[in-house]
Amino acid sequence: MIHYPLDNLLPVDSDGFYGSFGGAYVPEKLLPIIRELEEAFRRYIADPAFQTEYDRLLHEYVGRPTPLYFSSSLSNQYGTKIFLKREDLNHTGAHKINNAIGQALLAVRMGKKKIIAETGAGQHGVATATVAALLGLECEIFMGAEDVRRQHPNVMRMEMLGAKVISVDSGSATLSNAVDAALAAWAANPDETFYLIGSAVGPHPYPEIVSRFQSVISHEIRLQLKELTGRENPDCIIACIGGGSNASGAFYHFLEKPEVRLIAVEAGGHGIESRETAASISAGKPAILHGSKTMVLTCPDGKPAEAYSISSGLDYPGVGPLIACLAQQNRAEIIVADDNEALAAAYNLARRDGIIPALESSHALAALDKTKFRPDDIVVISLSGRGDKDMDTFLSYPPCREDA
Ligand SMILES: *Cc1c(COP(=O)(O)O)cnc(C)c1O
Repeated sequence: MIHYPLDNLLPVDSDGFYGSFGGAYVPEKLLPIIRELEEAFRRYIADPAFQTEYDRLLHEYVGRPTPLYFSSSLSNQYGTKIFLKREDLNHTGAHKINNAIGQALLAVRMGKKKIIAETGAGQHGVATATVAALLGLECEIFMGAEDVRRQHPNVMRMEMLGAKVISVDSGSATLSNAVDAALAAWAANPDETFYLIGSAVGPHPYPEIVSRFQSVISHEIRLQLKELTGRENPDCIIACIGGGSNASGAFYHFLEKPEVRLIAVEAGGHGIESRETAASISAGKPAILHGSKTMVLTCPDGKPAEAYSISSGLDYPGVGPLIACLAQQNRAEIIVADDNEALAAAYNLARRDGIIPALESSHALAALDKTKFRPDDIVVISLSGRGDKDMDTFLSYPPCREDA
């Protein structure tokens, strides 16, 4: 069993700022609640009993470590050495459960009875409903009505697990509106409720909490690369970014290693010129969204715009403050992959390696066509989730059928 150190290696200051991004922009009423959360987090994450329970559940329940798979097929195709970090093989099918378990353990220790969460693709909702069932907590999941429609299998899973799914009709009826509804429900009943945020977004300390619980990904990558190649550090790590949690986790132990290229892939949707996009770094500007200052897609009047991507998990008009900061400081390279490129990359992996990736993860794979590598480079791609939930989209997309 691996012991995950969960140390703080983030470039975050005591007010929760990553460079000029981050902070905690919340209603007055939530300030003491956020302070209580931060205090509890700092206490328990340093507590050996908490750490042991986290390590044990990740191993026995989630199935960690997830494999680091060398794809000889992709390596031949792209003329470099490509490894896939198989987060798709986690219990519930994505990386989200790494963080959901950590926060739910925190909720139990803080004496909370009920967990609320927002979800886009439904993956975080399923992960949250799962850990709530495991730990005997009541669970309510806020989900945009559009996503309820697109991700129906995940809605059924959450209900079977005993969670209540609350469909949110406002705005574009997607993830961003679900976050607003969850924040409002939290502010209405903060003493009883634990708000389990699913990505590295929201007010401080959430981006830090989520990134530290997801740091198990890069901790394992280092151990596995060492065993497979003799080296701990890859030359390049690629991850898709919705809010940035699988990217934060995959980049985590390499943040301070400038020789490791960090590539974050945004969802272009129909293209960044089209306004139907979710590329908040490439097409957005600094603004406050869901409690933190970050890169946000905005309307001409300055309000957050509605994001669009074929992938529900990337369909969000902001990004976590860590990724916004890494982009601003040129520590991370930002690549945009649009809907069609992601679909083509999904079919490519399915046909070459027998792995059906989530549409989100397909954006990371699409970046292989958009950057150059040396033959000896070790490139690790975060395969954040599996594509079962996206089968209707894959099969109903005519251009892919013709290509295939
Ligand atoms: C939710 C999700 C994402 C996007 O969220 P991040 O916080 O940016 O990682 C990516 N991949 C999968 C499979 C997801 O479920």
